[in-house]
Amino acid sequence: MQELIQYIKTHGEALDQNVLKVDAFLNHQIEPVLMDHIGQAFMQHFKNHKITKVVTIETSGIAPAVFTALHFNVPLVFLKKNVSRIHNQHLYHTTVHSYTKDIDYELSCNHKYLSADDSILFIDDFLANGEACLGAIDIIRQSGASLSGIGIVIEKSFQPGRDILTKKGYEPYSLARIASLDKGQITFL
Ligand code: 5GP
Repeated sequence: MQELIQYIKTHGEALDQNVLKVDAFLNHQIEPVLMDHIGQAFMQHFKNHKITKVVTIETSGIAPAVFTALHFNVPLVFLKKNVSRIHNQHLYHTTVHSYTKDIDYELSCNHKYLSADDSILFIDDFLANGEACLGAIDIIRQSGASLSGIGIVIEKSFQPGRDILTKKGYEPYSLARIASLDKGQITFL
């Protein structure tokens, strides 16, 4: 998606060989027109799937996912991080490892918002090692819903996420694919 690539070139900051900061339009300040176009691009790609819900992970997946849900005219469900299960037994839950932060976190969703009737489009801001995506897939599987598509805003193609997902039979669709990063330098595929 050329408009997104232009935003990344102009406003993205490569901190090192692994991390791309996109706080200027996606992760801190949000550009709504760009998010609208991202939602439109995902809708165009997945329009032949009968999507009943969009699912993402809080917080940074919410902006692109809400615009995607708007274009499909379906609800968005965001998976919550680190919700206590003590007073809430009605949760699907799983544990995700974040290589970026080197921590484990809990991901959960209330039983009310996902069911076996749902056909899900999962949207996330980044694909890196694929752990967040696998966590979301696990929760969707627990609910009995079917996963109809995976849409990624920015894929770091030099990290193993795509290969891991492909080997498990999933085919992520990414709007921007990055071949490599270096301090101050971003190369696209
Ligand atoms: P994964 O589980 O695929 O390793 O990482 C996916 C999650 O980590 C994304 O949802 C995103 O929040 C975060 N992430 C991974 N790499 C980057 C990055 O280079 N920049 C930013 N801003 N977030 C990242």
